[in-house]
Amino acid sequence: MKVFDTHIHIQPFHMMKPDVQRTFWMKKDNRAELEALAEDPKKLLAHMDADGIERVGLINYVSPDVMGFTSEVNEWMMQYASAAPDRLYPFGSVHPAFTEDVAGETERVIALGARALKVHPPHQRFRANAYQQDLPALARLYERAEVAGVPVTIHTGTSVFPGARSRLGDPMDVDDVAIDFPKLKILLAHGGRPLWMEAAFFVVRRHRNVFLEISGIPPVKLLEYFPRLDEIAHKTVWGTDWPSPGIKSMRQNVDQFLELPLPDAAKRAILYDNALRVF
Ligand SMILES: [Zn+2]
Repeated sequence: MKVFDTHIHIQPFHMMKPDVQRTFWMKKDNRAELEALAEDPKKLLAHMDADGIERVGLINYVSPDVMGFTSEVNEWMMQYASAAPDRLYPFGSVHPAFTEDVAGETERVIALGARALKVHPPHQRFRANAYQQDLPALARLYERAEVAGVPVTIHTGTSVFPGARSRLGDPMDVDDVAIDFPKLKILLAHGGRPLWMEAAFFVVRRHRNVFLEISGIPPVKLLEYFPRLDEIAHKTVWGTDWPSPGIKSMRQNVDQFLELPLPDAAKRAILYDNALRVF
């Protein structure tokens, strides 16, 4: 089966703050290999070939205060992904609290080549629906993405990185976004894991424009977390979060997923077809 892994982290590792680096590289014995992949997209493509992965979404987001990523991540990522536009889907990002003209910057990032945008509430320190209160400019980001037909992946669930605010990972905040931007395609990354799976399931079923993105969930636990996954198989998108803590390889997750008692049609849709449609 073809695989589109919509959530991996090959990114400018050198920009990460020292304490973030410590957490990221902890328990990883292949740091040099991963850094080499980030330096040369051809090496990542060869790695994808070896793992049997046709396409990947390259997650990327601006978070100068928590992670160390400034808006330069956008140029870095678009340049990197330009090596193979049919296989490497670069994410773009705009941080509304660090940007004067959010509408203009969102348009610029999309024009630069972003195939999707990432919003990361626990690492960017605002709620996904903060445009209703203290961050009205966040609405500009959603509006521009909606007009351009560019999907937005929103992190839901906790985060272990120093400085991350896990309480901001509640998927119920995305209920507002789905209502206020009805044509915006939204992916709920990590399905609210490990605290809010029921809320994530509700939001995906409730809104036509919201999809479940299952990266970061160990495939062996997937049906424990989402016992009614088959009901939303047509709206579920594959991702691994590789090489984040605990994820050994893109391939291993696919192999474990293929062992699950789900119909082949559902597996095919989740691993590839749904993502291709959304992106
Ligand atoms: Zn991630």
